Amino acid sequence: MAFTHLHELIRMANERGVTIGQLMLEVEAEQTGRTKEEILARMARQFDVMEEAVRKGTREPVMTRSGITGGDGHRMHAYLQRGQSFVHPDTLRATAYALAVSEVNAGMGRIVATPTAGSAGILPGVLVAALDSGRYRREELVMALLTAAAIGLVIANSASISGAAGGCQAEVGSATAMAAGALVELAGGTPEQVGHAVGLALKNSLGLVCDPVGGLVEVPCIVRNGLHAITAMTAADMALAGVRSVIPPDEVIAVLHEIGKDMPVSLRETGIGGLAGTPTGKALREKVFGDRAARRNAGPTLAEAACREPAVAGGTGESHRGDAS
Ligand code: SF4
Repeated sequence: MAFTHLHELIRMANERGVTIGQLMLEVEAEQTGRTKEEILARMARQFDVMEEAVRKGTREPVMTRSGITGGDGHRMHAYLQRGQSFVHPDTLRATAYALAVSEVNAGMGRIVATPTAGSAGILPGVLVAALDSGRYRREELVMALLTAAAIGLVIANSASISGAAGGCQAEVGSATAMAAGALVELAGGTPEQVGHAVGLALKNSLGLVCDPVGGLVEVPCIVRNGLHAITAMTAADMALAGVRSVIPPDEVIAVLHEIGKDMPVSLRETGIGGLAGTPTGKALREKVFGDRAARRNAGPTLAEAACREPAVAGGTGESHRGDAS
């Protein structure tokens, strides 16, 4: 089956009496000829990679090569343990984890593109935080990855998951929607509630531009991952509480596509407009790349490398930043 509309996934899941994650597993087995056990084993390895990145980026400060960013995952993790945060520490943990994974990505470490390397912090952020809550088993989190993969496929097939094509709404927005839907199913929500979580999460991401300073996937990318982890959790809770996306989720995805096409090229991964075009953004670019030729060439190329679409279905491809995201 083609994963092009959420309403089709929801209908099929209901007809078969399965979750969207289970539907994804069945379809993946049918289409690849692999057994369900093989697919689950592969997904479990990817979850391990995600968890390793979380642990690495919180245990120690991970610095990026540019020197512009780094250490925020570790910093947030230490802060939340003091128990004085406005946001509950259990929730803030997802932010710390998302920052950590994004820094590992920017530091050329090993991550899983979900759906891209630039937005790779959000899904591991919320899922590893769920694991650490003690409320869910690892196998349940692996199934949630399949839910996220199904959602990512729908967005990729009917809109875009590329910052160059659709702005950051297509990357961080898609990751937020994938994470929100995965959390709903993890918590035992219905396929319809998964759809509403996707719609709610995406609505809060519409219009988000892609404006990486110096063309590097660091500013504002890393911070956006941290903040959108909480958006994903909130969208999941809203859907589980019965809040509905008044605009049907498939229509929200269609709008994401339309807005992406309308976005000026300066705000689509070129490293020219938005935050990249501020005096500080330009100064940082000059500091990192030095001469004018490097400034002209390096930005878009690096951003493209780090935000390329994933190699495997649903944005669950393991990746090193800059080579296969
Ligand atoms: S490179 Fe662009 S699309 Fe990717 S995370 Fe950064 S701002 Fe978002």
